[in-house]
Amino acid sequence: AAWTPEAGWHDAGLRPYGPLSLDPATAVLHYAQSVFEGLKAYRHDDGSIWAFRPEANAARFQRSAARMALPELPVEAFVDSIDLLVGTDSEWVPTGGEASLYLRPFMFASEVFLGVRPAKHVTYSLIASPAGAYFASGVKPISIWLSSEYTRAAPGGTGAAKCAGNYAASLIAQQEAIANGCDQVCFLDALERKWVEELGGMNLYFVSADGSITTPQLTGTILEGITRDAILTLAGDLDYKVEERPVSIDEWRDGVASGEITEVFACGTAAVITPLGRLAWTGGELVMGEETGPVTREIRAALLDIQYGRAQDRRGWMHRIV
Ligand code: PMP
Repeated sequence: AAWTPEAGWHDAGLRPYGPLSLDPATAVLHYAQSVFEGLKAYRHDDGSIWAFRPEANAARFQRSAARMALPELPVEAFVDSIDLLVGTDSEWVPTGGEASLYLRPFMFASEVFLGVRPAKHVTYSLIASPAGAYFASGVKPISIWLSSEYTRAAPGGTGAAKCAGNYAASLIAQQEAIANGCDQVCFLDALERKWVEELGGMNLYFVSADGSITTPQLTGTILEGITRDAILTLAGDLDYKVEERPVSIDEWRDGVASGEITEVFACGTAAVITPLGRLAWTGGELVMGEETGPVTREIRAALLDIQYGRAQDRRGWMHRIV
């Protein structure tokens, strides 16, 4: 679909998949005025196809767009685009294990001009791709690199928006993580370099020996993960005490060393819930174990059971597409 200030959203419809042809002076190529989402559609045993909380992704898409001076796409239009694309051929949604159809809605400045101002021509699109289980050989703890040189987001910046530029800025830190033998980068806050924020593409949770579960509080510099939000609710249902508050890197390191923190896991749409096995930084490391902890496993199973229709969807999180 296209947007202009005069016409609003128009030209919505299904198009054959293929290359976009862009003028070299298209604004997004120069100023990165672009936002996106990531969510999944799941096939249930009876053949029906469902998306997990698309309205929540639509709302975050609106917040991201507002921060990037892009127009608001109505929630219904966002959800309709998913129904239209996935409904066209539900065979695209794979069967088996933790397979799903990954959905990627995105919006960008498609006006042709050079100059720093919000575009007056914007394009919205949705593409999809089948995704297998994130871990081919079962869930395995990943290793994390604590970046001391780079931060992801600063107060007043774009950290809470799912905008293209955030990911461009974090590529070098992710590259550093890989170069140091780790799977993902972990970012601290930009001001004090003390507070744990999130991974390159996942939010974090800490499980304490007393049975409480803690996630770093949203400060405007952390992406408000839909999975993070779902876990706040599910962990409460499972009778864990759930806390959102600032977590310092010292609390993490000391807590694991003393046994007060028993499990650490990351969460996001792509990998659902992933245990952390090791945290490394320049000159040191903290080993958290090669096993997936029981709380991580329990919450992971509870979430997957809802997504794959094996457990009752008490909160209406699942949206039926077909
Ligand atoms: N943080 C970042 C930076 C991300 O890119 C993602 C993935 N969207 C997340 C957290 C997790 O968000 P969600 O649970 O909505 O996938």
